[in-house]
Amino acid sequence: VERVKKIYKQSRSEQVVAVNDVSFTIKKGETFGLVGESGSGKSTTGKLLMGLEDITDGKITFMGHDVAAIKGRKDLLAFRKNIQMIFQDPYASLNPRMTVKEIIGGPMRIHGLVKSQGEQDAAVYDLMEQVGLDPAYANRYAREFSGGQCQRVGIARALALQPKLIIADEAISALDVSIQAQIVNLLRELKKTNDLTYLFITHDLSMVKYISDRIGVMSQGRLVELAPADEIYNNPLHDYTKSLLSAIP
Ligand code: ATP
Ligand code: MG
Repeated sequence: VERVKKIYKQSRSEQVVAVNDVSFTIKKGETFGLVGESGSGKSTTGKLLMGLEDITDGKITFMGHDVAAIKGRKDLLAFRKNIQMIFQDPYASLNPRMTVKEIIGGPMRIHGLVKSQGEQDAAVYDLMEQVGLDPAYANRYAREFSGGQCQRVGIARALALQPKLIIADEAISALDVSIQAQIVNLLRELKKTNDLTYLFITHDLSMVKYISDRIGVMSQGRLVELAPADEIYNNPLHDYTKSLLSAIP
């Protein structure tokens, strides 16, 4: 991410600089935490990485490709497969009319990763086991699960496409604290077995240190501090980072 800027036009005369001159590099295999209070530009940064929003200025390169230059359905599909997202609200992000099997298996078929229904089902059961869900529940609907189980379904759906990067945007914020720890541990385990890189977006500084290698701190669209996780906690340099830390109970 090189000197990236994103301006949203909110009306004819009003605009918001959501991301302002932000630069950072996420290294292969690392977990990069992105923190900051509401409205600081975290989700916008995630969307820009995925090519879901056009950047106003600057450049984003993913695995050697200029994201803005990826055009055409086939190339976009191939690019999107490599970056999967896990969202805040597990219920809202899963189609209520689809079974777990369809939610996890559908994208695999669209991307041509499985050749037969049998192969698809076997892959779904394997993914369910990887995220700690009993494959016996494959024909259930998302609403029949708890919030934590739903988030496991969302993680399995993301993993199904064998992505290189997973962007977790407030993926644990809506869950009970004990469940948050379970999901963080699961993500850490999955990283070991699936050769993943994470961008872990959250406004909550207390949990992010358990998963992040480096942490970037955003304030009003700017990246005000970027350092290894332990340095952010033990030796924060920016006043804004200090104020965020002092808010942790
Ligand atoms: P939160 O912690 O609440 O999720 P965030 O750090 O993810 O906040 P963003 O969602 O990236 O923040 O928003 C950054 C700024 O851009 C905010 O001022 C927001 O109102 C504005 N913004 C975000 N999306 C849009 C949009 N689609 N149109 C107009 N303005 C937007
Ligand atoms: Mg957000």
